[in-house]
Amino acid sequence: MVEISIRLRDELVAAAAASADEICGLLLGRGEHVERALPCRNLAATPATRFELDPAALLAAHRAARAGGPAVLGLYHSHPSGDVRPSPRDAADAAPDGSLWLIVAGGQVTAWRAVEGGALHGRFAAVTMRDDGCEGDGDPPQGGDAPRAE
Ligand SMILES: [Zn+2]
Repeated sequence: MVEISIRLRDELVAAAAASADEICGLLLGRGEHVERALPCRNLAATPATRFELDPAALLAAHRAARAGGPAVLGLYHSHPSGDVRPSPRDAADAAPDGSLWLIVAGGQVTAWRAVEGGALHGRFAAVTMRDDGCEGDGDPPQGGDAPRAE
């Protein structure tokens, strides 16, 4: 299980829809809670079908985490093809380190964990996503002026 707000998922879907290439970035947060997504450049030679995170961005995020910032929980990338599952290529690229992988495709977001012997391609286990309760149809924030539904 991982907590990620509906709003953050919507942001990723919108960013993916606005790009013909795969978008990619890092997921920052604490424990099981994804606090934010950090967009990174896709350095792949064929970005329409592959992604390659900017290693400088990854280094910087890990450095910030060591300095007390949010942890690097994993990464996200989009599939312009619309396939919501990690590809065999993703499986080949993923280290079985338990990191979180979000796939943005077809107007939705799916969550996976890179593990040894995962059910998908031997590398990915599906992860349930839960809204973090900060947005959506839960109780309105105390004294807050929450945006009204249209
Ligand atoms: Zn992929």
